[in-house]
Amino acid sequence: MKLILLGAPGAGKGTVAKLLTAIDGSVQISTGDILRGAVKAGTELGKQAETAMNSGALVSDDLIMGIMGERLKEDDCKSGFLLDGFPRTIPQADALKVLLTDMGISLDMVVNLNVPRDVVMDRLTTRRTCNNSSCQEIYNVKSNPPKQEGICDKCGSPVIQRDDETEEAIAKRLETFTEQTAPLVDYYGKEGSLVDIQATSSDVVVQTIQSNLS
Ligand code: AMP
Repeated sequence: MKLILLGAPGAGKGTVAKLLTAIDGSVQISTGDILRGAVKAGTELGKQAETAMNSGALVSDDLIMGIMGERLKEDDCKSGFLLDGFPRTIPQADALKVLLTDMGISLDMVVNLNVPRDVVMDRLTTRRTCNNSSCQEIYNVKSNPPKQEGICDKCGSPVIQRDDETEEAIAKRLETFTEQTAPLVDYYGKEGSLVDIQATSSDVVVQTIQSNLS
């Protein structure tokens, strides 16, 4: 499948993407994961992105399109891809349209995960993430803690609270989402490719996506 997953930070895009990956081998492409990996590795890309990321702002459209222009051409995308956290602005959506047209690819659908703000706030403040950039498994101190506190079940690396998951940075990320990303719901709605889901359970989201695909 070839999907865009839209939704606020904490709406469950990453969790849903991981569940969908297991179904048909489509690859999850998370621009946030790619950027965090670059920050951790100390690359030029990471240096350019870090300040914006830590403050809850977006990194530049040019930088993101540079990453995605390359990433979508990789071989593993041939079996399908789940875009998690991209596009996040109208210029990114416009650029993606051109990129996909040039590559002869059409999307199956754009899914919007609708989650109330208080649920998102609670999820983000209690979320923890594996610090290993090639793992980045997600935990939650209340609903899904690692078996051994602070240690990733999958790879044994430390499980941490992200720098952009302080209350202040979360508030800024939600504001950024409302201003710059939420308009994409209308953008894709007008194109007729949008499926809007009340997304309190990731299993229900996955079932709804599957039934819309078949
Ligand atoms: P995420 O893990 O998707 O919430 O992304 C973490 C941070 O990475 C965001 O708060 C942004 O600073 C940056 N980021 C991720 N994806 C994008 C994107 N498509 N456009 C701009 N900035 C992004």
